[in-house]
This record gives sequence, C-alpha cells and structure tokens, in this order.
Amino acid sequence: MHALQLVRPGRLAWQSASVPVQAPGEVLVRVRYAGVCGTDLHAFAGRQPFLSYPRRLGHELSVQTVDLVPDNACAVNPYLHCSRCQPCRAGSTNCCEGLEVLGVHRDGGWAPLLSVPRTHLYPSKTLPAKVLALVEPLVVSYHAVRRARIQAGEPVVVVGMGPIGLGVALFARLMGADLHVCEARLDRRQASRAILDRDEVLSPGPTLERALRRVCGGDLPQVVFDATGSKAAMHVSFSLAAHGGRCVFVGHYPGEYSFYEPDFHRRELTLLASRNGQHQDFLSVITALEDGTVDVSGLVTHQYKPDQMPAVLPDLADTPGLIKALIAFS
Ligand SMILES: [Zn+2]
Ligand SMILES: [Zn+2]
Repeated sequence: MHALQLVRPGRLAWQSASVPVQAPGEVLVRVRYAGVCGTDLHAFAGRQPFLSYPRRLGHELSVQTVDLVPDNACAVNPYLHCSRCQPCRAGSTNCCEGLEVLGVHRDGGWAPLLSVPRTHLYPSKTLPAKVLALVEPLVVSYHAVRRARIQAGEPVVVVGMGPIGLGVALFARLMGADLHVCEARLDRRQASRAILDRDEVLSPGPTLERALRRVCGGDLPQVVFDATGSKAAMHVSFSLAAHGGRCVFVGHYPGEYSFYEPDFHRRELTLLASRNGQHQDFLSVITALEDGTVDVSGLVTHQYKPDQMPAVLPDLADTPGLIKALIAFS
C-alpha cells in the first residue's frame, strides 16, 4: 500500500509502506477519512515538541473494520493510555503520564490501513463516514466544555472560531450557556455565523471588553474559553473572565506563559487547561451527533485525495474559508 509519510519537517511524501501488523488486542481497520488538524500543521512545520521523524500523521479518523465485524463504521480514540498511572487509575486517561497519541507519538492513520486497539473503536450505525472523522476534534471541544461545568444561563465567551472553538461553542450552547463568540479572521467570522446560526460574532481589539459587557447585560462572562493557541489572545482571554469566573485554555501555546498574579488573585479566577478527551466524551459526542442535538454539517469545508496532500499541506492553513479539511482514503 501507499501511505502519507512526514519524512522530516517540511517534507510530506505519498510513498509505499508495509501493511500494518496487528499487536495483541488490535484490529485492522480501513481508513475512510482522516482530518487535518493544527497539530499536523505544527508537526509539518517542525514545531511539535513530542514528535520524532519520520512519522505518519493522522489522529482524526473515520474507519471501517476489516475482519472484526465487516463494514462496521467507527470513530477512533487515538489517545493510547497506560491504565496504570495515577491519572489513569483516577479516570483521567486523557492526561495519562505515558500517553501515546496515534499520529503524534506513534504512527497514525494517514494511510489506507491501520491497526488499532479494539477498545479504542467507537462504532456508529447511523453516522456518515465524514462525520465520524469529526468525532475526535469534537471530543476535544466537549471535554473542555465539561471541564468548565457550565450552569444554564451563564454568560460564556469562546475566543477563536477554528474547528475546536466552534465545537466548544456548539456544546456550550447545548449545556444552556448564554453564548458569545469572538474571532479575528473575516472568513472564519462568516463561517461561524452560518455554523452557529447567529448574527453577532465579536472581534478582538480594544473594544472587545465593552462589546462583551453590552451583550452580557453589563457584566463580564463567567466562563472564557480560549481556542486560539496564541499567547497574545490568551492574555486577552485571561483578562476577560468575570470575578469568580473560569478561564479554560483549550488551545495550547508551546512556550512560557505568565500573568500578573494580582489579576488572578483579585478575581479569584479558576484557570483550567483542557487536553484531549476521555471515553465518556467519545460516547457523549457520538450520542449528540446521532440524536442531531448538534449540527456539524458546516465544519468540513475542504476535501483532498491522499496524493494531493504533499502539495496542499504547506499552504493549507492560509486557504480562505478553511475550517476542517479531510483526506479521503477510501
Ligand atoms: Zn486534531
Ligand atoms: Zn496512564
């Protein structure tokens, strides 16, 4: 078979590869669609600290079992946890001390075939194959919303309307939040109006705090989600949470981040990181998609064939209107 291989930073190749060998407990799956994510772009640019080269990327996967139950369509949980460390024993498998993520720490699914632990497959009888490729990024969003413990009617702002921020907005609204969103890029502002079916998308800048107070009845939001991964934006997000509020960093910034402690203490702020997701997040996301309580039909904006990717990937982030790109393997 052929597979996409990230040979070294800046060089992706569609090249011949051996058919994966199944380890105990694993099953062979045929990849239908694989998402392209910010993590993959960081890996391509050589900015992903946990990744060694060569590496096969791909952690947002829609697959079909080959020999288990034929044609069983599944999403894949790419977070391989150890089950033994303290966080695993406490159920926080998403931040396992020895976590290995498919497509980051070990080879992932940018290939027609993949071997995955049977326990990490999440079947759905009804969801289309393209939607199953969105389950993993939506799990990241859902987990962040669950971390925030949103109360019905609480004013919430989500900063950054990429795929993760859009997912956070969809699930926060589902939890009953009084939702507001903020995005800098014009194309993403337009896309988020359509996907979230709302008129108002706030802009970052000197008037943001005033605009937030206007839409939150004079107050600041109780919960601020930052899904930008930008240090400057995270500083602004940190400053926008109300006294007694929560600030959730969903996007991560690969470097030092500091804040003026009295701003944190005076407001008795709760600062939360959110990383990956857990078993129950996968189940909840699939249920929400199957029930139709969230509509993700606008998230997939671009689709490519695998052999197009070496030419497409270098400039993908600058593609106008891009929310989520999928690679169609079969
Ligand atoms: Zn991803
Ligand atoms: Zn563990």
